Amino acid sequence: MADKSIKQPENVPGKYYVDQTCVPCSDCIKEAPNLLQYNDDESHIFFKNQPTNQTEEKQAKAAMAMCPVDAIGDDGE
Ligand code: SF4
Repeated sequence: MADKSIKQPENVPGKYYVDQTCVPCSDCIKEAPNLLQYNDDESHIFFKNQPTNQTEEKQAKAAMAMCPVDAIGDDGE
């Protein structure tokens, strides 16, 4: 389970976030390209946008479900 106390600093505020256990494998970006992106040195992924409609909400949930290290959480603020 992702830990909101170790969020990546670049995440925009809101429900979804990537924590510091991201590998990164980049698989989640394929699920939600409008929501997720690499940081500058490509050491991890973060949420650049929060979902604003049902389609994006589904994409965020799909990204969370397929993350191999459970680095994506939906209990952020
Ligand atoms: S799927 Fe998980 S480990 Fe892979 S890049 Fe996304 S957040 Fe990081």
